[in-house]
Amino acid sequence: GQCLAVCPTAALTEVNNIPKVWNALSDKNKTVIVQVAPAVRVALGEEFGMNPGELVTGKIVSSLKNLGFDKVFDTDFAADLTIIEEASELVHRIEENKNLPILTSCCPAWVKFLEHQFPDLLDIPSTCKSPHEMFGAIAKTYLAKNMDIDPENMVVVSIMPCVAKKYEAARPELSNEKAKDVDIVITTREFAKMIKEAGIDFNSLEDDDFDNPLGESTGASVIFGTTGGVLEAALRTAYEWITNDTLDNVEFTKLRGMDGIKEASIKINDMNINVAVASGLGNARKILEDIQSGKSNYHAIEIMACPGGCIGGGGQPYHHGNLDIISERAKGLYKEDRSKKIRKSHENVYVQSLYKEFLGEPYGEKAHKLLHTHYHKRATE
Ligand code: SF4
Repeated sequence: GQCLAVCPTAALTEVNNIPKVWNALSDKNKTVIVQVAPAVRVALGEEFGMNPGELVTGKIVSSLKNLGFDKVFDTDFAADLTIIEEASELVHRIEENKNLPILTSCCPAWVKFLEHQFPDLLDIPSTCKSPHEMFGAIAKTYLAKNMDIDPENMVVVSIMPCVAKKYEAARPELSNEKAKDVDIVITTREFAKMIKEAGIDFNSLEDDDFDNPLGESTGASVIFGTTGGVLEAALRTAYEWITNDTLDNVEFTKLRGMDGIKEASIKINDMNINVAVASGLGNARKILEDIQSGKSNYHAIEIMACPGGCIGGGGQPYHHGNLDIISERAKGLYKEDRSKKIRKSHENVYVQSLYKEFLGEPYGEKAHKLLHTHYHKRATE
């Protein structure tokens, strides 16, 4: 199906996880919390006759409350958290001039590709877990404690544009002694099916707001869903941390658009930081081969397996690789970014309190334990 057409880990066949979610929701002993990835909100509407790119964030929250989830949160919160960790790692590596370029690590299909095909480069991806995994790790510790529940009785459900996220959630390193970070992943299409199965009239739902504290997000986190967005978000934060100046124009337009490889050179103090963005694994391969052969002069590279990024993911409403549809979805995310009062991840006040109350220093010991991971060499398929 669609997954095999676009999912680079073609060994995966899509597992239907809807029954698992219904079971969790009907289990009185479980607290079931849900998070929604940024790319879902600009595509789900297509399943209900709307145009690509139409933002349905408020209706998503209403429908999830109607379906009976105990708390409805936003993966975007954790995308802001990812940026704090990833921008810290970037600044750290630039200062030490070590392990460069840093590669983004939030796309599990690309990470798996690297593990199989480029095992000599395993020390350059960021060690950050992806946002929904960071979310799960925080939910099962910080949130479980705040809600006074045993993490074993908490079920974390992720609604993702992605089929590879199902495989990612099962990686043994993405769990703690007591529980997996994320228990069940469903795709955007599965979510649409659940809404239909429950007989909810999606189009006439009133908007609702995410719960807190894991529901607040900035414009930077919203653009995670499109190619170039993760790097743009990281640069908004890294720029201010390195220069101690305010970044007035937060839009890095050279990193936007549907080209498979994009490049920019950003002046930060007296350094030129060279960055690149690749989407599609063929483009990723070119970039990685240049790194192997010593031809690459980049400091940071964002890589997404799906052309156009997660908005073009294999779990989204079918788009058949049509870049016009994917571009419309990107426009929806950039519109949401522009509508946010706060557009830099380090200004998310809920993320700031999470560090103050629980995590301590960004990129510190506790953050490493909960929010970072490692990679393995895997047999070539
Ligand atoms: Fe999944 Fe996004 Fe990677 Fe596609 S680009 S495989 S949707 S994480």
